[in-house]
Amino acid sequence: MESFNSFNSTSLPQMASYADLVKLAHRNPNLSSFENLWEAYYSYWNNDILATGIVTFIAHELIYFGRCLPWIIADAMPGTFNRWRIQDHKAPPSFATQWNCTKYILAIHFIVELPLIVLFHPMMDLCGLKYTSPFPAFKTVAAQLALFFIVEDTYHYWLHRAFHWGPLYRSIHRIHHQYATPFGLTAEYASPWETLLLGLGTIAPPLVLGYFTENVHLITVLVWMGLRQVQAIDCHSGYDFPWSMRRIFPFWGGADWHDDHHRYFVGNYSSSFRYWDILMGTVAGPKNGREKRRRD
Ligand SMILES: [Zn+2]
Ligand SMILES: [Zn+2]
Repeated sequence: MESFNSFNSTSLPQMASYADLVKLAHRNPNLSSFENLWEAYYSYWNNDILATGIVTFIAHELIYFGRCLPWIIADAMPGTFNRWRIQDHKAPPSFATQWNCTKYILAIHFIVELPLIVLFHPMMDLCGLKYTSPFPAFKTVAAQLALFFIVEDTYHYWLHRAFHWGPLYRSIHRIHHQYATPFGLTAEYASPWETLLLGLGTIAPPLVLGYFTENVHLITVLVWMGLRQVQAIDCHSGYDFPWSMRRIFPFWGGADWHDDHHRYFVGNYSSSFRYWDILMGTVAGPKNGREKRRRD
């Protein structure tokens, strides 16, 4: 099993100055600056489980609240942004609503997600994922990310559809539907069981692929988790801009797609793409041709 501590003797000084970091970033000329700093970071903690846990949790929090911030600002400026709100007939969420949601999200992050994040390193070791330098080639990362998006979307579609079955809805999924007009922070507003079960769709694909190919790196997993968070937050944002991704890639869901799931409650069960709902005839609201014909 690979470990930083077995071969890395130079560690980050306790109080690293900018000059120390520059020196460390150029320590091994065969590695990039980022790879050198990554090695120094693991040596500094001298505990790989802790080092992976800390970098993963901090990245998770920074990405989650960092990505929600522009949507909070947009909600606070309806005069400028309301023309792009999907449910523009409803008032944007108040500060009190956003704050209540934030408190719940923080509880989920610390009580449910943090223990799982700490457990990630042992699971990663068990499945043979890599975390030492060098990092994988860009095309390897891109191909694996594309695969993770397709697998997660399929898993999400079927499990989310099952969550709308009466008993599962009442016991698990109802919390996520508390907001019929979603906003960015509601992306992870869900019961702990939903967080665990839907979260498997994000965590399991890299572990399984790593187990069978021995060619998955932690960096790819961190990028994947970051992209999934951004995707989930954006599709709950409640805004559809002329430059939104779904206008460039017609099979991308985005806020235009998931907002209708919260608004009409039935249909649009997938996470990233549209094709499962189109194939299975579960498109929500007026975008569903059958519903339109019924109304006509
Ligand atoms: Zn739902
Ligand atoms: Zn949702």
